Amino acid sequence: MLYEKGMRMKKYEKRLVETNELVEVTCDICGKSCKSDCDFEYSSLIADWGFGSKHDGELWHYHFCMDCSEKLLVRINELRGSL
Ligand SMILES: [Zn+2]
Repeated sequence: MLYEKGMRMKKYEKRLVETNELVEVTCDICGKSCKSDCDFEYSSLIADWGFGSKHDGELWHYHFCMDCSEKLLVRINELRGSL
């Protein structure tokens, strides 16, 4: 325990704080880990469909590794070109 002197004393206690640490992100297409040397590298698709929509109440949350993200980008551009 650490004490400070002054007008009002403060009292400190060491506490362990439980945190949620990200330890893994897995690609939703190929199943590979998205972990790089010091971080995670991935893209995300997040959709929170609104009331009355076809997917009312659904929450989509997908993660894609770099390789799959690049393939998706090609596919998106193909779809864009076909419209
Ligand atoms: Zn992948």
